[in-house]
Amino acid sequence: MKGKPRFLLCVCRGDCPGFEKLNIWKFINYVRNELDVEYAIVHPQMCVDDGDRFWKDYAKKDTAYIVAACDPKMQRKMYKDALVEAGCDFDNQIFPIDLRNLSTEEAMKKISEFIDEVSKKLQQ
Ligand code: SF4
Repeated sequence: MKGKPRFLLCVCRGDCPGFEKLNIWKFINYVRNELDVEYAIVHPQMCVDDGDRFWKDYAKKDTAYIVAACDPKMQRKMYKDALVEAGCDFDNQIFPIDLRNLSTEEAMKKISEFIDEVSKKLQQ
């Protein structure tokens, strides 16, 4: 994989109860400033049509993406086809993690540990 993983946070339009305890901007600034990622972005809803268009336009074959959103199995189901159309592979390039129903502090701790794990895997 090329460079550090890119970090994406998907927040279900910003009005889903699953993310109501998360201070999105405090969280994303923590990830981009403190953790080992190339950069961090927020997407409002990556599992609908414009999310598919986003992936087709954005995903690159030699890049790893950490995607904090809903359940990893749901994520796979919802946007793996768009990745295939972009020439990418969900199972090897996407590192999905569920951040729903966590406070900002809980989400920061969980993502810090997860990014460490992903970085180790990518170095193997
Ligand atoms: S990918 Fe998951 S977190 Fe993102 S909008 Fe869809 S259901 Fe919500």
